[in-house]
Amino acid sequence: TNQGKILDGKAIAKQIRKELEEKVNALYQYYAMRPGLAVVLVGNRKDSQTYVRNKGRFAKEVGLESFTHHLPESVTETSLLEVIDKLNEDPRVHGILVQLPLPGHISTEKVLQRIDVSKDVDGFHAENVGRLCTLKREPGFIPCTPQGCLELLDRYNIPIQGKHAVVLGRSNIVGIPTAMLLLRRNATVQICHSYTENLPTEVSKADILVAAIGKPEWVSGNWLKPNSVVIDVGINAVQDANSSRGYRLVGDVRWEEAYPRVGFITPVPGGVGPMTIAMLLKNTVKAFENRIKNN
Ligand code: NDP
Repeated sequence: TNQGKILDGKAIAKQIRKELEEKVNALYQYYAMRPGLAVVLVGNRKDSQTYVRNKGRFAKEVGLESFTHHLPESVTETSLLEVIDKLNEDPRVHGILVQLPLPGHISTEKVLQRIDVSKDVDGFHAENVGRLCTLKREPGFIPCTPQGCLELLDRYNIPIQGKHAVVLGRSNIVGIPTAMLLLRRNATVQICHSYTENLPTEVSKADILVAAIGKPEWVSGNWLKPNSVVIDVGINAVQDANSSRGYRLVGDVRWEEAYPRVGFITPVPGGVGPMTIAMLLKNTVKAFENRIKNN
């Protein structure tokens, strides 16, 4: 972590996985059981397949049991709900994640609400959302990407309390839960979205900027408050003839302009992405420990 301004999510995530591996080994010594993570993938989206593969790979790396259920694009909602019911009942499974987005003929809401709250490691069940959004109540599972953003700030000892935090984007997955986490930590929080007027002015107020709009290099460097902290959640593929894959990944913030101006910034890739998976593994270990406590 000695690279000056870069919030090195890749390195921090690796460190967290090592800590988790030690914890999982200790739990195994004691209980002769490993936390289990089930990931459900529907259809053949390339990006979703990559995410699911990585989740399974890192789960195994830290010593979790990993179960992957790959269902065809045409699967009925009823069959998907049955798969979830089975996973809810399965004592080897402590965490359940349904990779989003789901095909249009399936109700995402119905599927997410079907997951047992105690296994909801993505934190999208209404009860976990409600806990997160109720101050002074212990949250349940916290969504992984927002949790990863906060963990990154904490590992670099970046103060949050009293700071002006601006969150770009209000999705249920990233923007809203990130804003809630910052609020819980006593930041002054502002959420911007596609109807926000004069975005550059709003961005310029941010001591901490979280960009999660999914628009490649949308935020110019000269919008940013000097020495501010930028967490770039965006993962956008842009055409690149020089890359062997034909594309490269960029964030929502224009890196070349932002880097010289800010105090800290996350790279894309290698920033928030790896932290997201690390938090999923952490939530799964938490689910396992909760189960043990309650038995
Ligand atoms: P969504 O598309 O669900 O949400 C985008 C949000 O940004 C919306 O609230 C939208 O506003 C707002 N928005 C869009 N364009 C603008 C604009 N020009 N100005 C201001 N606000 C705008 O995306 P997600 O939240 O799911 O993801 C955001 C990005 O983060 C994507 O690039 C995604 O790939 C990435 N991501 C990365 C993860 C990681 O692990 N690093 C995990 C999840 C996502 P409105 O509500 O008005 O439509």
